[in-house]
Amino acid sequence: MNADWKNEVQKKVDQALEQLKKLAPPISISELVEKNNIQLLEVVFDDPNLSGAIKRTEEGFKIFVNAHEPLTRKRFTIAHELGHFFLEDFQTNQEEITRTEDIFFRFPPETPSDKTREVKANYFAACLLMPSFLIKEFWEITRRDLQRMADFFLVSELAMGIRLEELGLWER
Ligand SMILES: [Zn+2]
Repeated sequence: MNADWKNEVQKKVDQALEQLKKLAPPISISELVEKNNIQLLEVVFDDPNLSGAIKRTEEGFKIFVNAHEPLTRKRFTIAHELGHFFLEDFQTNQEEITRTEDIFFRFPPETPSDKTREVKANYFAACLLMPSFLIKEFWEITRRDLQRMADFFLVSELAMGIRLEELGLWER
């Protein structure tokens, strides 16, 4: 994987964030879904190990999210699918399915190429839901309280912990 990939993903995240009316936690994922004319559907998958999917249909893009998962996970999954949307080119009827392990497994730096898109989509989701400037601001406001951070940004404590580590603000 090219060392510049994080910068490339961050550029797409910045484009997405520019579409939002206000930049404050929690980041409005639904506003972003609407602005891009994506239809969001909560569904029950036959396979319980699926978290989400994105499909380009004749009528446009659809994001599917596992209705049984908690809100914080749904938000991360939708943000991950938005990552596929912003980072990749889709053909009509092309579908991208995201398994729960694709989101929650922390891939090693040297990742097989078939997982590269998942790694990028996860990084997109983390940067979108937890923009660095807001994280730094609220890290001070909350006096470095991981749980309050997770509550403010409507993400899981796990996701917040990973993001804080990534930004060099916290070590587990
Ligand atoms: Zn995916």
